Amino acid sequence: MKIHEYQAKQLLEKFQVPIPQGGVAATAHEAFKIAESLGGESFVVKAQIHAGGRGKGGGVKVASSLSEVTSLADAILGMTLITHQTGPEGRLVKKVLVEQALDIEQELYLGVVVDRAQARPVIMMSSAGGMEIEEVAARTPELIIKEAVDPAVGLQPYQTRNLAFGVGLNPHLLRPASSFITNLYNMFLAYDCSLVEINPLVVTTDGQMLALDAKVTFDDNALYRHKELIPLEDPDEMDPLELEAKKHNLNYIRLDGTVGAMVNGAGLAMATMDLIKLAGAEPANFLDVGGGASADMIANGFRIILSDPRVKAILINIFGGILRCDVLAEGVMEAAKQVNVSVPIIIRLEGTNRDLGRDLLGASGLNFTVAGDMLDAARKVAALA
Ligand code: ADP
Ligand code: MG
Repeated sequence: MKIHEYQAKQLLEKFQVPIPQGGVAATAHEAFKIAESLGGESFVVKAQIHAGGRGKGGGVKVASSLSEVTSLADAILGMTLITHQTGPEGRLVKKVLVEQALDIEQELYLGVVVDRAQARPVIMMSSAGGMEIEEVAARTPELIIKEAVDPAVGLQPYQTRNLAFGVGLNPHLLRPASSFITNLYNMFLAYDCSLVEINPLVVTTDGQMLALDAKVTFDDNALYRHKELIPLEDPDEMDPLELEAKKHNLNYIRLDGTVGAMVNGAGLAMATMDLIKLAGAEPANFLDVGGGASADMIANGFRIILSDPRVKAILINIFGGILRCDVLAEGVMEAAKQVNVSVPIIIRLEGTNRDLGRDLLGASGLNFTVAGDMLDAARKVAALA
């Protein structure tokens, strides 16, 4: 689960990670009020969307008066912001963060991620802040200093010193840098994050270190331990079909292709997507209806696939185990009653009650083709899509 920068900063503050003074606004007037209460001469107005690269895309602007805050907020709110992370369709901006503008001397990068290979959280720091870290990693990997933390021992003081010295920080910043890194790491652990990224972490001309930008991603599998975080999710930032799928406990991810796929089991779904590609088409989604799906869940999954206008053909690939083929057939028929099925369907059913499932579908009046095996199914659906 992702959250907005302003929400991430509220969490950082709880963990004593220094952030600029500011507040979030949904209208230009609110933005003005926040700037007025902040005082000072210059402000920054920042679009709040779940994507980076806002600065380059025109979503982060400096205002040198209160009236400029109003006009910039007015321009940014309601704009469709396009960055390299939003895709060409961009994102509608509904909120802005208004902050004090800082006098920046140095922009650094600080991130914590889980390194699967090492099975440990890794803290990364770089003097090349403000740019995309992927680019730094590709071009100048020597500028990224890493420290893996043994979770049984915890983050050690020598590690924070290694990071701070490694990026060439002025020695008098060692203490604030160490507590910055330690507090950020504590937050990463406390909330079961999969990513915490401060880019840039700035050193101001008066020697303060602050998190100027913040990106936080939580591990969804651990959210049950952090119920207080769940309201932070912004439905406006989610794909509407993914949001709908979530309501029905379906494991659905929207993709860019034209073949809708309904499969039971994540492994089988991955294999099905591979076969669709092998046959020359692109999957429109990943959908694992799960081992114990009910007819209702199948109906909802089928309805969601059908509501994607890009879908030109559907492949249903079910291995009947706990989910019996006749239950699958009932679900598909239920969904077909609710929505008009205008695309061809290829079905590959195997396992428990296969024949009953096929008979039910055969009598349903739906336009579908039964495939012999998975590859045959993928070829047939690719030809149609
Ligand atoms: P993004 O990463 O989405 O482009 P950032 O929050 O990193 O957005 O902002 C982009 C750039 O704007 C920063 O690298 C920094 O140079 C500048 N900036 C952002 N907030 C402030 C601020 N409060 N004061 C001064 N400059 C800022
Ligand atoms: Mg940034």
